[in-house]
Amino acid sequence: MSLHARKIRLIMNLRRAGLTDGNVLNAIERIPRELFVLDSFHDQAYEDQALPISHGQTISQPQIVAMMTEALEVGKSHKVLEIGTGSGYQAAVLSKLCRRVYTIERYKSLLAEAEQRFHQLRLHNITSRCSDGTKGWPEQAPFDRIIVTAAAAELPQTLTEQLAVGGIMVVPVGPERGDQVLVKVIKNEDGSLTTKVIADVRFVPLVGGALPEGEPRAAPRRMEN
Ligand code: SAH
Repeated sequence: MSLHARKIRLIMNLRRAGLTDGNVLNAIERIPRELFVLDSFHDQAYEDQALPISHGQTISQPQIVAMMTEALEVGKSHKVLEIGTGSGYQAAVLSKLCRRVYTIERYKSLLAEAEQRFHQLRLHNITSRCSDGTKGWPEQAPFDRIIVTAAAAELPQTLTEQLAVGGIMVVPVGPERGDQVLVKVIKNEDGSLTTKVIADVRFVPLVGGALPEGEPRAAPRRMEN
């Protein structure tokens, strides 16, 4: 089966799973996921599964990308912050839906590869940097939308502070390798937060503090989003 046929099948399966936002599905259809996975996983690019990228990290399962993007309710005029660039796939999907994406990754080499893909696909509305995403991007705050694609031990307050009033944040919360849930946070007019659990998920951990230096090869691990 051709990659194109596999992509169409994936989109149909996402619809069947209840992910019916036309704009989100259209953005997923327009981004070639095969460019974001390792060569050896090329033919699995349109299976609905998370796949390994370097440093023991993963590109999320398409269904999770669709679910998080839909929950984010992204609009054309929005400024969006993503924590955890990884392969750059989620940022690429978002770039088709909003004004500008700011994305932060702690591994320099992952970020460099993602930046190459953005360039190759002419996604010029993505700004990226290598830093500790738990600190957010204060110079660019507030953000209309914030998406965290690694699991935080608890709701990251620094990030909710950088969320605009009326803004939405989607973040997996829970212990590494334990029960995690996807939380949707809405910042109300009075600055208070309304939180809602959307789904059970499994993500690699959000790691705060010093950035990795030598970037040693991580041992293989089981697949997480
Ligand atoms: N959104 C990615 C998948 C993310 S995997 C994609 O579409 O491919 C989670 C990523 O978060 C990993 O690349 C990991 O290195 C990164 N990460 C973990 N903690 C971080 C932090 N504090 N700051 C920035 N990135 C972080």
